[in-house]
Amino acid sequence: MIDRLEDLPVVVIGAGPVGLAAAAHLHQRGLPFTVLEAGDGPAAAVAQWGHVRLFSPWRYNVDQAAAGLLRDAGWVEPDPEILPTGGELVADYLRPLADLPAMKPAIRYGTRVVAVTRLGLDRLRTAGREATPFLLRLASGTDLRARAVIDASGTWTTPNVLGAAGIPAHGETTAAGVVTHALPDVLGADRDRFAGKRVLVVGAGHSAANTLLALAALAEQAPDTKVGWAIRSTSPARTYGGETADALPARGALGTRLREHVEAGRIDLVTGFSVHQLAPAADGAVTVSDGTRTLTVDRIVSATGFRPDHSITTELRLALDPIMGSTRALAPLIDPNQHSCGTVPPHGVDELAHPEPGYYAIGAKSYGRAPTFLMATGYEQARSVVAALAGDWTAARDVQLELPETGVCNSNPILHDNTITASGGGCCGTPAADTTTTSGGRGLATGISGGLLAAPLPLVGTSTSPGTDSAGGCCGTSTSPGTDSAGGCCGN
Ligand SMILES: Cc1cc2nc3c(=O)[nH]c(=O)nc-3n(C[C@H](O)[C@H](O)[C@H](O)COP(=O)(O)OP(=O)(O)OC[C@H]3O[C@@H](n4cnc5c(N)ncnc54)[C@H](O)[C@@H]3O)c2cc1C
Repeated sequence: MIDRLEDLPVVVIGAGPVGLAAAAHLHQRGLPFTVLEAGDGPAAAVAQWGHVRLFSPWRYNVDQAAAGLLRDAGWVEPDPEILPTGGELVADYLRPLADLPAMKPAIRYGTRVVAVTRLGLDRLRTAGREATPFLLRLASGTDLRARAVIDASGTWTTPNVLGAAGIPAHGETTAAGVVTHALPDVLGADRDRFAGKRVLVVGAGHSAANTLLALAALAEQAPDTKVGWAIRSTSPARTYGGETADALPARGALGTRLREHVEAGRIDLVTGFSVHQLAPAADGAVTVSDGTRTLTVDRIVSATGFRPDHSITTELRLALDPIMGSTRALAPLIDPNQHSCGTVPPHGVDELAHPEPGYYAIGAKSYGRAPTFLMATGYEQARSVVAALAGDWTAARDVQLELPETGVCNSNPILHDNTITASGGGCCGTPAADTTTTSGGRGLATGISGGLLAAPLPLVGTSTSPGTDSAGGCCGTSTSPGTDSAGGCCGN
């Protein structure tokens, strides 16, 4: 027998900051809900980058419905001006929230959703669709039914590949054992994987900068550590930011420190490098080639950003923007090809709706490939979508996004420094080049001057026959991270 839609719970996929915020709003609205989380605890993705300090202070990291529930339970609110680490975000906010009696019984950990569809209806069937429950298939094989689905599953588990064309570089899959995805805990839990090794960081965003500074610190402790940095652009200027001309002293200091490391040879920068091929080398090392030059390293940190995984919703009617992978309405508001340090207008249920009624992707996943997502934006999405599910369209459409005129979108990754940095700029993956004041205090700074992706890239000169370019391009132009490595691949 088919359940009545209104008797079924709203199912939230993911117990990250935004999924838990949605759950708090659902509780506040009196709507039955279930949260399905793949990890074994709350905010499993944030926990993996727990050693990284956020670039937004506490005041922008807490959802208001969640804060209300926590306060009622005697929660001691963190200092709103402090920048927490990911670990502190979990320990001081998300875990206490998930453990509240109003939330805990509704959260199922170790529960991965592998598919979402409509009960008995594939994507083609229209008749009766709106009144038919959603069906969620779990990795265990169990099927659940839902009145609506809020997909807050993030993008952390689907990082971009190293290959410059958006598909894996030749040999990338085989070389997976030496590739680490963004933000390893270089000075902590992952130290042994990097100490004394030749490490190449690929990417030009905030994650790359963060890892490079940590690796430079590691190289001081373990001098055999050699640090290389490959970027597609012909200049690292965007990663360095405004330096002393930057209105943000801490952000300027970050760029300055990175530049100083590069100029001193402690970080070996390779510009105009688009990863084309990886191939095994002696002693477990790997060669990385752009078709012309070849680098020989022991480890690669792939800091090339993230993309959403839409594979679980292929039987739903989604109208995805062909570029961003967000909804079409949201795409022009967040497009890093266009956005400078402008504003993302407040947005909610109307911009997040798909042709499939009752399915909403919110949180980091809602932005698709755009790297400019902020938790505060996700909390407003959660509030608006839940209000709509409760039938309160006035509240759903009254989208508010009170962000600081400046100051939320940059980080000061100086270790153990949790002071607030001054004004807005590059978001995760988007180092900033200037500062902008958002109008009226609504909206948020996002992207970098001229648009994150606006700078043209050099043409990729690749060999058409994989397997030949490494040797061919090596001896004349080899570059190797560090200063000793026997002339890169030629010496090996
Ligand atoms: C290093 C880093 C620093 C950042 N710093 C800031 C900052 O300072 N300020 C800011 O506003 N934003 C910041 N962000 C951006 C963004 O706010 C965070 O990524 C945030 O965690 C996104 O929240 P989310 O709930 O949308 O997704 P996530 O935190 O990724 O949570 C998604 C959850 O869904 C679960 N999940 C995934 N797939 C499934 C499935 N199929 N079934 C069940 N569960 C599933 C995951 O295990 C995870 O717990 C940062 C991001 C990164 C990576």
